[in-house]
Parts: sequence; structure tokens; C-alpha cells
Amino acid sequence: VIRVAVLGAAGRMGREVCLAVEEEDGLELVGAVDPAGRGLEVSGVMIEPSITDLGSRGLDVMVDFTNSDAAAKNIRWAIENDVHSVVGSTGIPEDEIEGIGVLAESSTANVIIAPNFALGAVVMMRFAEMAANVFDQCEIIEMHRRGKRDAPSGTALMTARGVSAAMEPAPDEDADENTVSGCRGGRLGPVNIHSVRLDGMVAHQEVIFGSKGQTLTIRHDTTDRSCFMPGVIMAVKAVSGLEGLTVGLETIIGVE
Ligand code: NAD
Repeated sequence: VIRVAVLGAAGRMGREVCLAVEEEDGLELVGAVDPAGRGLEVSGVMIEPSITDLGSRGLDVMVDFTNSDAAAKNIRWAIENDVHSVVGSTGIPEDEIEGIGVLAESSTANVIIAPNFALGAVVMMRFAEMAANVFDQCEIIEMHRRGKRDAPSGTALMTARGVSAAMEPAPDEDADENTVSGCRGGRLGPVNIHSVRLDGMVAHQEVIFGSKGQTLTIRHDTTDRSCFMPGVIMAVKAVSGLEGLTVGLETIIGVE
């Protein structure tokens, strides 16, 4: 049995992860942490205010859906305590992720950080990398709920990085006059990213490629948070067999 703790257990994602872990054969929920969930119980487990309260529970894996600051601290605690990490929190700065990679390298605890656990989104990112070999222009429109802390989304960042690495970009021909500031979006390498934030959205992304005379649009929509759970469960089961830090689910689902 893999003994699992969920961080952010009172949040939108954390609550679902607790249920998914509880329902999965071979996994046991032994800890739940959330400063906002003090006194509450999930799947028969009391929610504790801090990860340091879990010290003696013989944890194998901690799953983190909190926020970028909390996640970075939780991962460091997990590495120091020989606990593997599966992390969905987005917005963790690149240099912080690099530091975590170095720590994980010299420890027996492994870390998976994935900006998107929906298997369809992982395939979308892979398709986008393939399309970037053929097209020379790309823009991303990502749509999430109003109030999401970070912009652009972690999925948009990972997609844009993959596209930038694979694409031979066309020369820039942006308009000289933008009468509304920011209307061309933010830029990562040659990729413009547009972040839409509206009530009613869960997580949606369109990757639009263009070249002379043709476009290609790759779109992924999540309509319910349940779509993230198969990826989270796969990662919990796989993390002990990986080494150091793994970013993204590509290696686990075999679409590298
Ligand atoms: P949310 O605000 O509903 O939940 C986050 C919870 O974390 C809150 O209840 C908060 O009290 C708790 N928290 C804060 N600091 C904590 C700490 N130190 N220890 C334990 N808990 C702590 O947010 P959400 O919609 O569930 O999203 C959480 C994170 O997951 C965000 O970064 C979001 O972008 C990301 N996310 C990732 C995926 C993915 O597939 N990778 C999917 C959806 C959301």
C-alpha cells in the first residue's frame, strides 16, 4: 500500500484528490493538510494545518495542490523527510524548480511537477511540439476561472516553452500601434499568450498555429476537475520508480 498525504486538502483540487486516493486500490490516505480546513475531516482523515504535523505517519507520497509559495516549501520538507512529491500547484518560479531538482538529485525522494494532470492536455502539448516543426507562428489562448492566482497558466507556459524550442519563427510583424495596451498578450519567446479569466471556466486552451495560407488549431477543454484524477493517481503510483525531478507527465504516459 502506498501511504499518501494531500496538501491543499480543503481546496477545489485537493478535495477531489482525497476522494480519488481513498477510492483507489493500493493507495491509502493517511494525511490531509490545509490551514483553511482546520477541524474538518476528509475521507475519515482530520485536516492538519501544516505539513510538519505529518512527521510520524510513515508517508510514501505527498500530493500538493496549494499555491506556488506553499508548494515550494512543502516539496523541500518532503525531500528532507524522504517522502516523494506529486505536485500540481502552478506558478512555481523556474529557479525554484531548478533548486528542487538539485535537492532531489542527491536524495532518495523523487518529485513530479506537472502543470496539467489531464491526459488530454498532455497530448495537446505534445501535438503542439509536433506542429511547431511545420509552422512558423503560434499564439496561445488559455482560459481559466476568475480569481486564478497565476497568469499565464502553467500549461500555457509549458506549451510555449515546447513550441519555442521546436519552432523556426517567422520575422516579427506586430502592429506598430496598439491602441489598447496588452491587447497582443504576453510573450514567451516567439509565442504570444492571451489569458482569459471568467467565471464558468475550468481549464481550457487553444494553441493556434499559422503559416502562409493555413492555420492549425489544437484545443483542449476540461469541463470537470475529475479529468485530473487519473493523471494524479498514475503519478502517485509511478513517482517512486523515477529519479530526481520529473517535469510533466510525458514520460509516465509514454508520449515523449
Ligand atoms: P484552491 O484555492 O481551491 O485550493 C488551494 C488550497 O491550498 C486552499 O484550500 C489553501 O488553504 C491551501 N493551502 C495554502 N497554503 C497551504 C499550505 N502551506 N499547506 C497546505 N494547504 C495550503 O485552488 P485549486 O483550484 O484547488 O488549485 C490549487 C493549485 O493547483 C493552483 O496552483 C492551480 O493552478 C493548480 N491546478 C493544477 C492543475 C493540474 O492539473 N496540475 C489543475 C487544477 C489546478
